[in-house]
Amino acid sequence: MKEKTLAIIKPDAVKKRIIGKIISRIEEEDFEIREMKMLWLTKEEAKGFYVVHKDKPFYDSLTDFMSSGRIVVMILERENAIAHWRKVMGATDPALAEPGTLRHSYGFSIERNAVHGSDSPQTAEWEINYFFPKTQ
Ligand code: ATP
Ligand code: MG
Repeated sequence: MKEKTLAIIKPDAVKKRIIGKIISRIEEEDFEIREMKMLWLTKEEAKGFYVVHKDKPFYDSLTDFMSSGRIVVMILERENAIAHWRKVMGATDPALAEPGTLRHSYGFSIERNAVHGSDSPQTAEWEINYFFPKTQ
């Protein structure tokens, strides 16, 4: 069954001018891009998106980073989209990510790790609704 996930190209990757490389990989992996837009989040919007991490020590730094420049937000669809996109992204920390994954290729640090992906059907629905409320 087809499934949707929310993907973000983070500010570090936009600044490095690798939006095209990441979107090429998304298409090579047989995802259909169902929605896509470029945004520059406010600090408050970044805090809202990452509210699940509000008690983590990295919350303030993460939300500063996520509001530091433009991002590209997409709804991706394919079979098993959530798990497949996380596999293509690789581990959160680029130093631990497998060769061939986006974070291994393009991530700079555990915070500046190029891309985001939802981690469950519940978070995918919540995250898609956060950025694309009309598509639900
Ligand atoms: P994402 O949710 O962005 O797809 P993830 O699910 O692999 O990544 P999470 O644990 O949800 O990782 O963390 C969300 C984001 O917070 C990470 O992608 C990263 O940018 C940042 N982050 C996670 N752990 C740390 C940490 N220990 N120090 C700094 N930043 C962190
Ligand atoms: Mg996560």
